[in-house]
Amino acid sequence: MTPPSPAGEPIARLAEASVLVIGAGALGCAAADALGAAGARRLTLVDDDRVERSNLHRQLLHRARDLGRPKVASARDALAARHPALATAIAPVRFAADNAAALVRGHACVIDATDGLATKFLVNDLAVGLGAPLVHAGIVRFQGQLMTILPGVSACYRCLFGAPPPEGSVPSCQEAGVLGSLAGTIGMLQAAEAIRIVTTGALLADRLLTYDGLTGRFRHVKLRRNPACPTCRHVVAPVAARASNG
Ligand SMILES: [Zn+2]
Repeated sequence: MTPPSPAGEPIARLAEASVLVIGAGALGCAAADALGAAGARRLTLVDDDRVERSNLHRQLLHRARDLGRPKVASARDALAARHPALATAIAPVRFAADNAAALVRGHACVIDATDGLATKFLVNDLAVGLGAPLVHAGIVRFQGQLMTILPGVSACYRCLFGAPPPEGSVPSCQEAGVLGSLAGTIGMLQAAEAIRIVTTGALLADRLLTYDGLTGRFRHVKLRRNPACPTCRHVVAPVAARASNG
């Protein structure tokens, strides 16, 4: 059965765009699946991890039979079965300074679906430096957050958080645990924001959305660029991005 078309022309634009998803874990599985369901035709998944049993409760594209496989291969196969029109390219590598430009090239936006604060600063700095719109998210225990970074236009992750805390001082999602459904909620919201970026325009630029999985409460916090931010202070936005942000 053909699903109903939710939005005509914007969805046609989504079908033409390609999205880079960094991380094929909890957030990446939810975001990629939601993009495929919405009508995306091209994704690239980046991750150098393999599927472990402890992942399965929240990384919903991986199954018990995928244990030990590269996450990107497991996720690609699950996506192909669920969304036959979606072509998923995979890169079983860690996103880093020496491969960032090649990985980002040709993609309309980047979804940060990684775990670990140091990695999030790295993804922010590299994506902003390359001028790529970035949908950041973080999850731990019952808390989730989301923001969009339009390089040279809106506040970046480093504008907001400055520098990573000392290594080991803040537990990662892997170490502290996370509510599986929270990962799904936030990953789906990342997909929704990526869809807006390639269709109608980002909603969460200069805004931090937080979600408390215990109370079910969403909050929006207004953000401002830090004029002294070492990552984005010299980044100049493309004319179209400046215009679309008012
Ligand atoms: Zn910044």
